Amino acid sequence: MRIVVTKLGGAVLSDTEGFLRAVRLINEDPARKYVVVSAPGKRDRADTKVTDLLASLKDPALRTENIERVRERFLTIAKELSLSEEVLEEIETTCTAISDQLQGEVSEGALEFVMSRGEYLSAQILSAALKWPCIDPGDVVRFTTHGRFIDRPADLSLPERAVIPGFYGKDQNGKVWLLPRDGSDITGACIAVIAQADLYEVGKDVAGIFPANPTLVEAPQQPIRVLTYGQAEEMTYRGESVLHDQAISLLQGPRIPVRIFSVTSPEDSPDTYIVPEDDPRIISDQVLIGIGEEKDFTMFELERAGMNASRHFTFKLLGVLSDFSIAYDHIATGKNVLSLVVRNKELAGNTAEVVEAIKKACRAEVKVTENLASICVVGTHLGSHPKVIGGLLQALEALKTETPSDPKIYWHEQSGTGTSIIIGVATSSLPQAIPLLYDYMESLKTS
Ligand code: ASP
Repeated sequence: MRIVVTKLGGAVLSDTEGFLRAVRLINEDPARKYVVVSAPGKRDRADTKVTDLLASLKDPALRTENIERVRERFLTIAKELSLSEEVLEEIETTCTAISDQLQGEVSEGALEFVMSRGEYLSAQILSAALKWPCIDPGDVVRFTTHGRFIDRPADLSLPERAVIPGFYGKDQNGKVWLLPRDGSDITGACIAVIAQADLYEVGKDVAGIFPANPTLVEAPQQPIRVLTYGQAEEMTYRGESVLHDQAISLLQGPRIPVRIFSVTSPEDSPDTYIVPEDDPRIISDQVLIGIGEEKDFTMFELERAGMNASRHFTFKLLGVLSDFSIAYDHIATGKNVLSLVVRNKELAGNTAEVVEAIKKACRAEVKVTENLASICVVGTHLGSHPKVIGGLLQALEALKTETPSDPKIYWHEQSGTGTSIIIGVATSSLPQAIPLLYDYMESLKTS
């Protein structure tokens, strides 16, 4: 018997209709044995995700009102689904536990518990609606007592069917720890690995993974049909939020394929599959596959005469990064100049201090450029297609007329495996750069 693990994100479980759709979907295919759920997401653009409401409870001024909003959202769904008194009581007890945790000085640990309750209650509701058991993710998603996620779930026997809350796990003392935001994907991947699933599917409110950000490319796009794990990781790592990159890493070893589909039109929606590199579904003659982009990068340009002759220059720079606990994204060197690109969140507001420390350690001039974006064009064996690489850069020539204020390419590089080309541009030129690259990618299909 096939085993399918299904993860349903917050956007598809935002209201009663979403839960009803989930029940129909799960019952449609007996192979769907494990369902991982997120907390309810936004019902419309102006709405707030339940996880964000829970995170806001850190602020004492918002506490009473927002606990009530969470309580009301879950009670409405449970009542409209005609669930038992027991479920309604569980919602009440959980909301009381949330306010109990928030008395006095709120610790990080208390906030992690509070933020996990959205997934917890979603799972209680879906398990009652399906009449399936709900299992504690603490058995599946393990953390060390310092909150480090242990990404090799131990052997564990699962019940025949179950609903599992996403986004959190526990350490050996039963303390709740959160996965990163959008981390329910990771919970789903853990379950898929433990259950030795034949397929891990992720139900969304949009079809598959689009080749380029639909908010930046006006033309109607068809979802990418097939990606390798490596290509999907590059797409997600660079800001394509359809599947968490850590989930892909977990699934890669046991070669569990992923299907990303739309829950609103599951039958005929063109899905995206993420598969091992030797899967026959891979379209081998497609050189360029998709474009991801991420904002909020800062570039540091270090200049010192004779820099490349120094034996310790880069070592000292890395020492500064290590002292500030900063992971970097890109380093390129010339004779006297080195450029370093870092995500703003790594800098945590310490740019000025980092600059001072670099100046001191490396005895170099340092120039800082902010508001940069990284574009990742994902493809197949790009190193063997220099003409295509040239074509991508050439396509950006038009930035000169389209964003004359800052048309510059700040950096570009090919990933070691040839899976992607990374191009750094000013954030202000992203809205022009992505359509230009997309048009070039499309032109290859017809040429
Ligand atoms: N609810 C959490 C978030 O909003 C986790 C998830 O949805 O996967 O990030």
